[in-house]
Amino acid sequence: MASNIAIGIDLGTTFSCVGVWQNGRVEIIANDQGNRTTPSYVAFTDCERLIGEGARNQVAINPHNTVFDAKRMIGRRFDDEKIQEDMNHWPFKVVDDGGKPKIQVEHLGEQKMLTPEEISSMVLVKLKETAEVYLGQQVTDAVITVPAYFNDSQRQATKDAGKIAGLNVLKILVEPTAAALAYGLDKNVKDQRNILVFDLGGGTFDVSILQINNGNVFEVKSTAGDTHLGGEDFDNILVAHLAEEFKRKYKKDVMSCPRALRRLRVAAERAKKSLSSSTRGSIDVDALIDGIDFHTIISRARFDELCGNLFRSTLEHVDKALMDAELDKSSIHDVVLVGGSIRILKIQSLLQTYFCGKTLNLSINPDEAVAYGAAVQAAILSKEPSFLIKNLTLIDVTPLSLGMRILEGSMSIIIPRNAPIPCKKANEYTTTVNNQMAVDIYVFEGERILCKDNNLLGSFTLTGIEPAPEGVPKIEVIFDIDANGILNVTATSKKNGCTNSIVIKNEKGRLSTEEIELMIMEAEKYKAQDEKQRSNLKARNILENFVYDMKQALDNAGERLNQSEKTIVNHEYDLVIQWLDDNHLAEKEEYEHKYKEIQNNVSKLMKIIQ
Ligand code: AMP
Repeated sequence: MASNIAIGIDLGTTFSCVGVWQNGRVEIIANDQGNRTTPSYVAFTDCERLIGEGARNQVAINPHNTVFDAKRMIGRRFDDEKIQEDMNHWPFKVVDDGGKPKIQVEHLGEQKMLTPEEISSMVLVKLKETAEVYLGQQVTDAVITVPAYFNDSQRQATKDAGKIAGLNVLKILVEPTAAALAYGLDKNVKDQRNILVFDLGGGTFDVSILQINNGNVFEVKSTAGDTHLGGEDFDNILVAHLAEEFKRKYKKDVMSCPRALRRLRVAAERAKKSLSSSTRGSIDVDALIDGIDFHTIISRARFDELCGNLFRSTLEHVDKALMDAELDKSSIHDVVLVGGSIRILKIQSLLQTYFCGKTLNLSINPDEAVAYGAAVQAAILSKEPSFLIKNLTLIDVTPLSLGMRILEGSMSIIIPRNAPIPCKKANEYTTTVNNQMAVDIYVFEGERILCKDNNLLGSFTLTGIEPAPEGVPKIEVIFDIDANGILNVTATSKKNGCTNSIVIKNEKGRLSTEEIELMIMEAEKYKAQDEKQRSNLKARNILENFVYDMKQALDNAGERLNQSEKTIVNHEYDLVIQWLDDNHLAEKEEYEHKYKEIQNNVSKLMKIIQ
């Protein structure tokens, strides 16, 4: 086995998935619970940190300290309207820390403030470990996927999450390209085909048009979407509807009770999923608030009507992607569906009608396709790519136009959206006043005419321009995007060659190198705490099993011990059980000490029956 094996990770809003290329094919790796996808949940308790199923399973009893949806926060500012909106639905607390959203939790009796990057890094660590157990070796190289419509700061933040998790991120790959790779390889596409990938997951929606040429060149033609639209929005709508019904019936407000809200959410999501196969879904929550049971029914028609606007909005993005790719819908050969939410029948029928009755392609596993493609890309980028995929080429595009601010605050576009990447483009600018020796370069992304309506990525000042009348100096600004979609901007005064540049770090939300270093150290601390907790639990289990086994042996001892001896030994064991009940958070050494103590105390009598 190659020592530098690289994994592919689909870091999803609600579920994540990891895969690896091995023996000429992709293997999707099951976690320690045997599941091929892992909930993107992290929970904190007074004695441990849980990631994945463990975290998700205890969400109803620990809603304030169970964090999910990090992907909906990552790379955004606290005052972002989407975050403000989502906060109404999150049972955990998100606070403003210098403009960044931070999640406030209680862990091991202390209050902690965590960034979305750190939460995502914890999910990544879990996937990394899942792969390591499967492969029997350490893994550091990885490809991580993001929605195509993620902007620069969301991509950068995801890359930072990988770094905090101890991963060397070979590439940030966009999800639809990954899905198209999976589709192209699965179908063994040999001719030229236009493929539309419709990817509707838990929190994000992407639509991309790709062209597969000769079966080995995957070229993205256009992308569109909404980084804030997915199954969770449908859940939110359903929860609000149910909470309203509950209020009407019982005059109690679920929305103001986090635990009840969480339980209602779980029931609503379950009902939503069941509506993909039946026309009616039931909601059954015992003792939702003040002991009141909530049992109700939602019909598929009602659900479709409640979410109708959101469902239909997906088609506007399909329109936009087709327009940007300069393709007519009739020239799309395959419509490939990925993401858990594409199971909603109304969405399938809207899409099918849009494509004039065309059969939609549901043949690739919607939950695993992205990780599958990421694993293929990881294998291509690893040091020894398999000959089967060595010649595959992926050509990606920028999701948003990139430019800089010029006169009157308008946006001068240097790289238009959907330009293939990597790519490098230059424009020439000049000064606006006589003898101007410095210019400020403000870099933006977005499609609006005025920069104030777009997203500021960063800024820097070019100094040392030779004094000259306005309009004379020639300043060349170069935008250079690498294969990960990460932008480097350089400005040079042509006359004297003075130059300045930045790698766009997104001043508005990005973590600094120092912060990342600190978080890496914190992650190590969490790991050490987890390991300590595991060894504490192991020692506790040994003691607990021993005591119960011995009590059982005592029961079966028959005449070998007399009654008073049995009572003495039983009492000793009961004391230990009592001690275990009173000491849930004891250390390994204390459990071991207790174990020795009980063995010594009863050894003589127990030897008789062993
Ligand atoms: P993903 O992020 O691709 O894993 O998608 C997860 C989302 O898909 C969650 O919001 C799920 O509730 C949703 N989902 C999964 N199965 C179904 C289903 N049968 N019907 C409707 N939505 C589903």
